[in-house]
This record gives sequence, structure tokens and C-alpha cells, in this order.
Amino acid sequence: NSSLHELDPDVAAAVDAELHRQQSTLEMIASENFAPSAVMEAQGSVLTNKYAEGYPGRRYYGGCEHVDVVEQIAIDRVKELFGAEAANVQPHSGAQANAAAMFALLSPGDTILGLNLAHGGHLTHGMKINFSGKLYNVVPYHVDAETGVVDMDEVERLAKEHRPKLVIAGWSAYPRQLDFAAFRRIADEVGAYLMVDMAHFAGLVAAGLHPSPVPHAHVVTTTTHKTLGGPRGGVILSTADLAKKINSAVFPGQQGGPLEHVVAAKAVSFKVAASSAFKERQERTLEGARILAERLTEADVREVGVSVLSGGTDVHLVLVDLRDSALDGRQAEDRLHEVGITVNRNAIPNDPRPPMVTSGLRIGTPALATRGFTTEDFREVADVIAETLKAPSPFGAADAEALKARVTALADKHPLYAHLSK
Ligand code: PLP
Repeated sequence: NSSLHELDPDVAAAVDAELHRQQSTLEMIASENFAPSAVMEAQGSVLTNKYAEGYPGRRYYGGCEHVDVVEQIAIDRVKELFGAEAANVQPHSGAQANAAAMFALLSPGDTILGLNLAHGGHLTHGMKINFSGKLYNVVPYHVDAETGVVDMDEVERLAKEHRPKLVIAGWSAYPRQLDFAAFRRIADEVGAYLMVDMAHFAGLVAAGLHPSPVPHAHVVTTTTHKTLGGPRGGVILSTADLAKKINSAVFPGQQGGPLEHVVAAKAVSFKVAASSAFKERQERTLEGARILAERLTEADVREVGVSVLSGGTDVHLVLVDLRDSALDGRQAEDRLHEVGITVNRNAIPNDPRPPMVTSGLRIGTPALATRGFTTEDFREVADVIAETLKAPSPFGAADAEALKARVTALADKHPLYAHLSK
């Protein structure tokens, strides 16, 4: 029973280096967060040893009496958190939750209507070489070129023209709220199921700070590790009448044994998500994104060709439009990396540059809010980002050092996982 450091110093060193990276830089990838230590403790528990194919009370293995308790707690908590009739907490990831939900509702060759990847959709919403693009006939909808907002007239027109069996609402890179009632009306008009993938904004929904898709959708999928702040994983919520189909699509349809250690960690994160402290954190998440959007629309930033898609944000992220900037997405991502801020470059609608370069950035605030960032801290972060994007090329070492010092001061002000440092 050696420790990780004794048994495998190579892996331990990489884990330590990653801990240091998370502690000393500002994590602003919109899909990332910092799981509480209790979540990591559950995830690192003996439950990793247990096979438990099946569902609580109906397993194909013996010795499941304790994992049954854990999984039932997770199911009950997530149903309560989102007001859902049924829940499956076994999907290993968001992609597998979507695969299982589609497997339950569709047959290969059926038509699905989903937001185009380059317009903010996810790979699993119909990208050509994803399972969703290979198994199903994909009709993509888009955001309006002028407003940057999903074009509901197009959604309705395409639905009537192609009569999909499934309409998918949800996104990976979109700064506004969707109209779930309108999506449901359109789905009903053509006899389609409505699936909402709330992976990104589930934490905001749990906190009551974003409209809930649950009353409108037949099925709602999510990840548990983005705004929700739990372990990496997926969940499927559904109406009671679809529960049996969804359960058999997850197991045995898509997966074998569930990761009960992760299910335990999900249960812990659902408890956290029901707390008032979680709600307060989500409020700071939204406030941070608003502050960033405001700073990045000020005159000095606009002057260098940087702007914000859709003009602002209602959620936890901002999409930066670099089409008129001297920097492309990759250069901007690299520059921010140099000053200690981690973001990802992101294709924007009608992006003139290739996907490996792009003309956009996606910048999110969930991880910094979890770290305790206040309004004042977010103002400072927003200013550092603005100054970094404004600085003339080549980006001089002196500029980078001065901005990095401001980043380090913010990181030091909000220690992270201090008990894990050696
Ligand atoms: N759905 C949406 C909207 C996402 O943004 C993502 C991940 O980025 C996923 C699903 C997939 O989640 P995972 O990476 O856990 O498979």
C-alpha cells in the first residue's frame, strides 16, 4: 500500500505539477471548475473497486448493498435539485449521456435538428464524424449573423421542412439563454422529442439563476463538472414514461459497469448544489461574466478590433470576436497563457479562419467564482485580459511580466487546495 509518490514518482510529479498550475494561474476555460475536496475524496474511494451492472435493487453482481445506497442518494438528490421525474446518474460523461439519450429515442437514420458546431453546438449534436453525425441524419440550425442569437424562425422552418424525430437545444459556446418553451412548441408541431443539453448552464439552473429546461423537455442531459462543479461525468433527466427506455439505453445499451465512485462524488456535488453558498457562488459567476463583457466592450478595446459576440452575456461565459483584431484566436490564447490566464480559442459563427486557428475566444468565470473571486477581483481580471489583448505585437517580455504579476497577486489572494500542497 505504497503512496502514489512512492509507487510511481513519474505520475506523482505530473499530478503535483498540475496542482501547481491550477493554484498559480487563473482558470477561465468556461467548461472547467474546481471540485470540492469532499467530491474528490468520494471519487478516490474504495467504490472504484466495485462492479454494479444494473440499477439499485436490480444488480447483476453480488455485494451491491452499499453502492445501491450511494446511487439511490444520487438519483434522489438530482431529481429534487432539478424537479425531474426520473434520473439516470450512470453516464460516464456528457457525450455518453447524449449518446444514450439518443439511443433511447432514435433509430439509426432518423433526423435530428441541432445547433451547428461552429455556431456553438456540441460535437454530439450532429458533428459529421461524431457518432451523432454518423448514425443520424443531421439538420443543423444556426445563430443569426447580425445578432449572434439562435434564429428561432430558422429552427421552425427547418423543423417543418425536415420533420426531425429529435430537436436538440443546448450549447457549448453561446452567451445567451435559449427559449425552451419555443423549442418545445416547435418540437410538438412536428411530433419530435425535445432534448435539452444543459451541460454548460446546469449549475445556474440548480441555483435558480437560469430558466430550467426540465418542465419543457422530454429529456435533459448534463455534465456534472462544469458550472455544476462536481466530478467529471454525465446525468440524464427525463419524464417518468421515458425512464425505462433511458435506463436500458445507458445499461446495457451503451455502458457496462457504472463508476460508483464517481456516482458517489456526483451525489456529494448535488448536495453542495442545493446549498445557499452554491447559489451565492453562481451569482458571482454571472456577475464576473457580466463585468468581463462590459470591460471588453469599452472604447479602448473596441479600438483594437476586439468585440463581444451578441454584445454581452446572460450566462457564465463571454465569446470574444477577434475578426477585426490583429490577433487571431490562437495568438490571443497564447498571449493570455503567457500572463497566466487559461482560456480556449473558439470558432465563431462564420469564422473566416480554420478551426485550429479561429477568430474567437471563449472565456468563462465558474472556476474563479469557486475560488472566491469577488466583483472587485473580476474587475481586475477583466482589465488584465483587456490590457493583454490590447498590447501591441510583438508582445514584449516587460508587458507580459507586469500583467503576470497582477495575475499572481489574484491567485495568491485566493489560495486553492492549500491542504494538498506539499
Ligand atoms: N454537452 C455539451 C453542451 C458540452 O459542452 C460538452 C462538453 O464540453 C458535452 C456535452 C460533453 O461532455 P464530456 O466532455 O463530459 O463528454
